[in-house]
Amino acid sequence: MSDADRKSTSLDPDNWGDLRAQGHRMLDDMFDNLSTVAERPLWQAPTPDQRARYRAELPRGPGRLEDAHAQFMADVAPYGSGNRHPGFMGWVQGGGTGVGMLAEMLAGGLDANLGGRDHMPIEVERQVALWMAELFGFGPEASGIFLTGTSLANLCAVLVARDRALGADVRHTGVRDVRVVAYASKGVHSCIVRAMDMTGLGWDRLRLIETDANHAISQPALEAAIAADRAQGLKPFLIVGTAGSVDVGAIDDLDGLADIAQREGAAFHVDGALGALGVLAPGVAPRLKGIERADSLALDFHKLAQVPYDAGFLLVRDAAAHKRTFTYSEAAYLRHAERGLAGGEWWPCDFGPDLSRGFRALKVWFSLKTYGLDALGVVISRACDLAAALAARIEASPELELLAPVGLNIVCFGYVGGDNAAIAADLQEAGRVAPSTTTLNGRTAIRAAIVNHRTGLADIEALVESVLALGRARAAAAKTGRG
Ligand SMILES: *Cc1c(COP(=O)(O)O)cnc(C)c1O
Repeated sequence: MSDADRKSTSLDPDNWGDLRAQGHRMLDDMFDNLSTVAERPLWQAPTPDQRARYRAELPRGPGRLEDAHAQFMADVAPYGSGNRHPGFMGWVQGGGTGVGMLAEMLAGGLDANLGGRDHMPIEVERQVALWMAELFGFGPEASGIFLTGTSLANLCAVLVARDRALGADVRHTGVRDVRVVAYASKGVHSCIVRAMDMTGLGWDRLRLIETDANHAISQPALEAAIAADRAQGLKPFLIVGTAGSVDVGAIDDLDGLADIAQREGAAFHVDGALGALGVLAPGVAPRLKGIERADSLALDFHKLAQVPYDAGFLLVRDAAAHKRTFTYSEAAYLRHAERGLAGGEWWPCDFGPDLSRGFRALKVWFSLKTYGLDALGVVISRACDLAAALAARIEASPELELLAPVGLNIVCFGYVGGDNAAIAADLQEAGRVAPSTTTLNGRTAIRAAIVNHRTGLADIEALVESVLALGRARAAAAKTGRG
């Protein structure tokens, strides 16, 4: 193929200088956007006009890059989900960083496929896995893999535990003998429940155990459930501990769960999506004791570690068992070779469900190299300190009530006698501070999850003042309505 032939079909520009100049403008716009994020509303609903512009005809012909960019800046960027804003406290979401953004750009430029084969991006992913193995005391033999999020990491961990319990043959036969049972607290994330059906085991094989006053799993209740199942001839195959529950931030007694799992011959998995990286915060780390005894650990870099979405991670102590669960050596087109590009010892596609995979590891590698683990530990400590400050403000105000103990970075509270769901929605629409809600003991709570590294005391103060103002206004309106 001559150069002229290539030029006529390739998507590369005729003039790289133009693309470069436009690229610099796009990068500058995003830096402007990121550095002024606190000055704009946290969230605003897109207008019907804007939504309509995204029901356009199939674009068969070419358009100008600068036009697409302008449309993005006008219609998309100002109407994001708000998690970068310092007042964002909804759900459990990180705020992203400029370093993460730049690393995403480099990863996009390199366009590496990390399913397998012999190339340096795989070594970067291995490096992060080794760092995590060291950080969590798993040892260098452990395997680690990036996934979209902890939902997928938990699913993969349940699969590894399933195959360990039922034998590798279950991959041939499918799940037939389901006399195995998993245990987790009532506060466990819904993705563990979903993992049970997606692994063919079924919800009936998951016991959701009562929690104690701190919303952590009750070990006496767990012991009783195991005894009852044993009496029925059932076998415990998996105990899931939660390091930071999604609704209130509760941490299970991981050491205690590791003891029980060991005694029962069950696998011990930790859902550390929210709290595992608390090992970096001196105030949290002692409460995570036992995490180093887990057979597998799921965590999210896109939460407290502030890496841009998405960056979930699974660490498995027994790499061979991990590989047995996912590897499939029958496909000729995916054969591993001794040498050449198809060489390489470690193919991520042998350790998870994905074949084609992007370079998620790069933004994590950049974040760890650039900020360092200590700084991430400070971010996590500060999130917990802000949550404690918020709890103290609530307890000092007779109009507000704390609805769950605050052990980590999540505060559940309400306006006494108020409609907490309506107050949360009012706050989101006002665009200054945005908590979400949860249900605790049958009551709707305003839930402030302090995750974003940009959040400060002024945001906590704004949340308290806004809830008080909205609660009072609603109470007054209700009175006049009645009178
Ligand atoms: C966020 C979260 C999950 C789900 O993780 P995703 O990254 O959203 O898939 C699971 N467990 C806990 C405790 C979480 O906080």
